[in-house]
Amino acid sequence: MEIRNCPQCGKVFAYIRRNLCPDCMQKEEELFQVIRDYICNHPGSTVLSVAENTGIKEEIILRFLREGRLESSSVLLADSQLTCEMCGRSISSGKLCEKCANKLRKGFTGETKEDKKEESQDHKPKVYTLDRIKDNR
Ligand SMILES: [Zn+2]
Ligand SMILES: [Zn+2]
Repeated sequence: MEIRNCPQCGKVFAYIRRNLCPDCMQKEEELFQVIRDYICNHPGSTVLSVAENTGIKEEIILRFLREGRLESSSVLLADSQLTCEMCGRSISSGKLCEKCANKLRKGFTGETKEDKKEESQDHKPKVYTLDRIKDNR
């Protein structure tokens, strides 16, 4: 058994499957029921309209979607709902668009650097890496 602090209320609890204490899980379950009921009655709603009409934060609804608890087909994910945290482009999942995720992985901070990098790669053919592989074998 693992003891954790609840990320919502800070209370210590025994981690089982979800990173929430039983109290917050219960609250979240209630929210989930409300959202599910609303979507049942208003199929094709956007996340925003669900949030507005249920009073539940968009991020909570989005989290249910990400966790797969709500069928994304029953809620229209408006383009503006899931956006890249870096460039604001609409994305279908996660926090960053593919471009920014790649950029982050490579450690780039600016976009102009990317072009320069590509140029310099042309001047350095990677032939020697092939030789190295041969030597190792
Ligand atoms: Zn809690
Ligand atoms: Zn982006």
